[in-house]
Amino acid sequence: MSFKSLGLSEPLLKAISKKGYDTPSPIQAKAIPPVLEGKDVLASAQTGTGKTAGFTLPLLDILSKNPVQKHRPIRALILTPTRELAAQVYANVKEYSEYLDMRSTVIFGGVNQKPQVATLRQGVDVLVATPGRLLDLESQGLLSLKRVEIFVLDEADRMLDMGFLRDIERVMKLMPDKRQNLMFSATFSKDIKKLAYSILNNPIQVEATPENTAVEVIEQKVYRVAKGKKTDLIIKLISDGNWKQVLVFTRTKHGANKLCKKMISSGITAAAIHGNKSQGARTKALAGLKNGSVRVLVATDIAARGLDIPLLPHVINFELPNISEDYVHRIGRTGRAGASGEAISLVSADETTFLRDIEKLIDMKIEVEILEGFEPDPNASTEPIKPGQNRNQGRGRGSNNRNSGKPKSSSSDRNRSRSRARTSDSRR
Ligand code: AMP
Repeated sequence: MSFKSLGLSEPLLKAISKKGYDTPSPIQAKAIPPVLEGKDVLASAQTGTGKTAGFTLPLLDILSKNPVQKHRPIRALILTPTRELAAQVYANVKEYSEYLDMRSTVIFGGVNQKPQVATLRQGVDVLVATPGRLLDLESQGLLSLKRVEIFVLDEADRMLDMGFLRDIERVMKLMPDKRQNLMFSATFSKDIKKLAYSILNNPIQVEATPENTAVEVIEQKVYRVAKGKKTDLIIKLISDGNWKQVLVFTRTKHGANKLCKKMISSGITAAAIHGNKSQGARTKALAGLKNGSVRVLVATDIAARGLDIPLLPHVINFELPNISEDYVHRIGRTGRAGASGEAISLVSADETTFLRDIEKLIDMKIEVEILEGFEPDPNASTEPIKPGQNRNQGRGRGSNNRNSGKPKSSSSDRNRSRSRARTSDSRR
């Protein structure tokens, strides 16, 4: 199958070949034709499947076939949950529209609105936005959604996780009733289905490779280790392996900062991203990892959502997540779009239950290794820590035993477990 056979126009094919893609990914092959036909589409696809091109390419194709309108009203709106994802989707829109007469921009919070407003004033055809800033600028009369022809809701499940339901409903009321709608989500809980019914008209449903298939192609390994030796072990692994682009996950912001400092003092360039970092700092850290000036990016789950780091060779769980599905999302940052990758987890005694739950979820045993000098502590307690609690304060059973079965069948569990674990979100 080729991109040409999907019916995309020449300027888009040129941009695609410039990106170096020769074959559409499964979600692209399935989603592009119905979108081009003007149908509403409900797609099950997570980051890493090529979903962004799956909606951006046909969207640009449709818009480019209609003549440019005077004053350039916003004709396509792409709503994303996070700033990082918005920036990445926008980068994709820019690249794919290089050979088209198309203007686009991105707006999100956390940065000065002035430059965003100045670009909007000149007129844009495609707007990528996060809900808060979009509604903010609309209420100030600085943008209008009255001429939107195509609406894309990206990562709808994350939108709901992050409490954006009301905002989405408000955005819907600002657009004309007659429009094409595309909705992407990695999971399909009851709430997501409800949202889909309220947004989409007779949607065509398409599905990309399920999450657990992606998990199978990623090389996974566990190092059992004493908690107090984790930092030395991670530094040894990165130094001995001479690893260059490493994404490390910690459970808390404090943990991310601490580990980042230790790395730097061992001579490894590192940066941390988490909820307390400014947008500028996060963008800079991510750019550093991409261009090689930063070897290690230490992130919390929330900060890492939606990050697009192509061909990332190493993901390390410095600590296992207490929500098993987060493990799948974390390791999904490696081995993307067909490239191979390695996911390593450093597991101390109190994470034994987390590991067991993860193995249940992905339905496979992960290979375990113990390195000499970094052995686990035989006297350490295997009592898991509770979400939101400091590792050192871990007492009693955590709420980690709720995830059994495969990811596909546990999407509603996942939503439940997410909302239960939300108490600990401020720490991430
Ligand atoms: P996404 O799921 O949209 O975040 O895309 C994941 C990664 O796959 C990005 O780095 C894209 O640039 C890349 N990608 C998207 N489509 C293709 C394709 N057809 N062939 C190869 N790589 C692709």
